[in-house]
Amino acid sequence: MKLILEMGDSQMPTKHDAKEAVRTLLSYLETDYQREGLLDTPDRVIDSWDEIFSGYTMNPEAILSSTFNGEGYDGIVLLKDIEFHSTCEHHLQPFNGKAHIAYIPIDKIVGISKLSRIVECHARRLQNQERITKNIADDLEKYLAPLGCAVIIEAAHGCMRCRGVKQANALMTTSAMRGVFFDKAEARQELFQLINN
Ligand SMILES: [Zn+2]
Repeated sequence: MKLILEMGDSQMPTKHDAKEAVRTLLSYLETDYQREGLLDTPDRVIDSWDEIFSGYTMNPEAILSSTFNGEGYDGIVLLKDIEFHSTCEHHLQPFNGKAHIAYIPIDKIVGISKLSRIVECHARRLQNQERITKNIADDLEKYLAPLGCAVIIEAAHGCMRCRGVKQANALMTTSAMRGVFFDKAEARQELFQLINN
């Protein structure tokens, strides 16, 4: 990963080491792991990680620091149904779903694409859903200093679909409510109405 390379630690495994590690895993599964179909699999797996784990190269401050003057707007700003893909840190299984992000500005507003960027920044890492939810709320609070902010995430987890309890349709919901969304039931109610519209 880029971030690891930037750290310049010579003890860190190289991309080549990572590909060889995947080859070892393939040989754990199949004695015929050198067959044609698997030959380039280690390269493809590790190359795909550049995108799947690109969150490590993104910086929340850089994403949320270019703000605009809100010109007195004091209502809810909501971006809903932000699709995301993440990887469960316990099983290396994908989990994916939708995030809804809202805030009420005091004077800083941010470009709408930045809200989906901040989801990618946290989702494209080894994660659990609770941490993604909390980290996004923390960043909104820190960089936008809003009257309140809210993050709601619904996701289906590969580790539940494919293994263990095999709950194919179970969705997990997490939420973080800050400021006025935490303090005032009316603010939460208005938010839920907007999300469910
Ligand atoms: Zn898992």
